[in-house]
Order: sequence, then structure tokens, then C-alpha cells
Amino acid sequence: MTSLSKQEQVECREKAEYANVNWDELGFALTKTDYMYVMKFTEEEQMFCNGTLIRFGNIQMCPSSGILNYGQGLFEGLKAYRKEDEGILLFRPEENALRMKVGADRMCMPSPTVDQFIDAVKKTVLANKRWVPPHGRGSLYIRPLLMGTGRNLEVKPSSEYTFLVYASPVGNGLKGVLNLMVEDNVHRATPGGTGGIKAVTNYSPIYKPLTEAKAKGFSDLLYLDALTGSNIEECSGCNIFILKGNVISTPTTHGTILPGITRKSIMEIASGFGYQVEERATPIKEVFDAEEVFCTGTAMIVKSVASITYQGKRIEYKLGAETLAQKLHATLTGIQTGVNEDKLGWTMVIDGPPFL
Ligand SMILES: *Cc1c(COP(=O)(O)O)cnc(C)c1O
Repeated sequence: MTSLSKQEQVECREKAEYANVNWDELGFALTKTDYMYVMKFTEEEQMFCNGTLIRFGNIQMCPSSGILNYGQGLFEGLKAYRKEDEGILLFRPEENALRMKVGADRMCMPSPTVDQFIDAVKKTVLANKRWVPPHGRGSLYIRPLLMGTGRNLEVKPSSEYTFLVYASPVGNGLKGVLNLMVEDNVHRATPGGTGGIKAVTNYSPIYKPLTEAKAKGFSDLLYLDALTGSNIEECSGCNIFILKGNVISTPTTHGTILPGITRKSIMEIASGFGYQVEERATPIKEVFDAEEVFCTGTAMIVKSVASITYQGKRIEYKLGAETLAQKLHATLTGIQTGVNEDKLGWTMVIDGPPFL
């Protein structure tokens, strides 16, 4: 028997239905996949075109590019799930595409059209199909990036842009609950700033307080509004809801809170359950007598908050199987994975050969 050539081995591996991954041990770290999608906006073309799949790997750019020097960039995050019948579903990808358009406008960047965005996401998923975890054992996290990649030393919008989509399998992230600490010194977002869009510059300014909070055993920080310091806004990368009686409330997204797609979906599902869902300013003092608190985001879907600590005082909340958070989590993940009927038309089936 002759052994396979390098090329044949690669082709063979790529034909396998599933990549060699220990699905049950996946967290949220990067697992490299096979391909990524790249599309450019050049000075000559003045539009995004000629998008293509290339091998996943490092990219090159001029040291003076806008993203590296001035942070002119946006990111998105969405997931592809495998159904019981092996089909693959995307969850509301047009919402991510629209959010990127809004963000691009704020950051003075051109953005791909909704169709271009969805097409790129589909191609990335299909090319990396073997990395989409088996049904119920995780998802393929898709990370679209929009970056100023033209060379510009001057402080002004970049002359060229790159839209890049890569993906990594991630676990379900079911385990654990959140222990939050209210941050009353550092603000995540300020009115007129970029807290309401997924700017790449939103995260690193909170690494310092977040790292300190984690060292003290907290899972995340809960930020207050920068103007009065009396209303809660959101956590580092997820939105927050509080439950009291039949009322679920969450802070209004008016520029300092990221309008989460999970948040929006959970509001609809909770209304359907008969809860009164209120979007309004949520004073920190209301957090003290909430019955249940939970957070939402693409990575965690819905996670219960076990405790909130504010100025040394720790409040604890209801946890476990009987919580609304668990019910919402089960309902939403049921829709996302094709187990529950998708009455609202939130999922998009993607199918086709690995290379389009
Ligand atoms: C992405 C993000 C969220 C969650 O948005 P989803 O669309 O639900 O994933 C919440 N807060 C911040 C700061 C984020 O960046």
C-alpha cells in the first residue's frame, strides 16, 4: 500500500464529515478552521467586491493602516448550529449585517451590503462545515471584521477597507452562573461615544477594571450610566434583564448600550410567555429587590446572575431549573438548533457544496 501524498492527506481530511475535535471540551478559545473569507474596498473600485475564500491564516497589512493606528474597525459575532438532521442554521444574520452598517456609518467606514454580509457568512460556514459541532454539542462562532486597512498616517478615515470573516467552533457555555460587581469608577460607554456599536475599541479600555474584578472572583462587571451613575447599563459583553413579579425590565439602548440581538429576541420570547417587558432606565436600587437577574449575548445566550455586589453589599438571586432564565435559554436555543418550531422566521437554513 502506498501512503498518501501530503496533498491527498489534506484532501482526505477535508472530505471527512467532522473535524477531529473533542467537542465536549470546547470553551470559547480560538480553534483554527480551514478557510476565511476576505473582501476589499479599494480606492479604485470604491465598493466592496471580489470577495473570496482563502486558507485561514495570518494577514498582512501596512503598519500605518487605520485599524492598527487609530482603531478604525468593527466586529460582529453570530453562530451556526447543526440541526438533528445535520442541516445547518444561522440565527438572524441580517440583524448582524444591519448592525454592522450602523456601526460603519458611525466609524466613517463603507460597509458590505446585507446580501454581501450574509453571503460571506454562508460561504465561511460551508467551507468550514466539518468544524460545525454535532447537534447539541456547541456551535460554530462566526466573527466578521470590518477594518480600515489603507495606509494613512494622517488622522482621517482610511482609504481602503477589508471585510474578513473567520470562524471557530465553540462550546455551549451552559456551565456556570454570573457573579457581577457594579463598577462605579470606570465607564464602559459615554453619551455620544461608540458604546452603542461593536467598535473594536470598546473592549480594551475595560480590561483593567475587569481583570481586577476577575482577580477578586467576579465573573464580570456591571456598568453604570456615565451621566448620573445611578442607572445600570450592561456588562462588558452582554445585556442585562431584571425580573420582578410579572415585569421584566432592561435598560433602553440609546447609544451607550450595545443593542444585542439576543436581547431583542429574548424580549420577544418573554412577551410571548405573557410577561410585561419594559425597556426603560433601570435604577441600580431596583436591582436590590429584583427576584431574578440574567444576562444575554450570542456567546452565553442566557445566563443567570447569582449575585450582584455594589459598594461592598452583595445581593443574591434565584437560580436553578425553575428560573425564567432557564426557560428562556431552553426556548431560544431550541429555535436556534432547529428543535423548536421557528414561528418568527429567525433562522436561515444554509446548504450547498463546501465551495461556492
Ligand atoms: C456583542 C455585545 C453584546 C451582545 O449582543 P448580541 O447580539 O446579543 O450578541 C452586548 N454587549 C456588548 C458590549 C457587546 O459587544
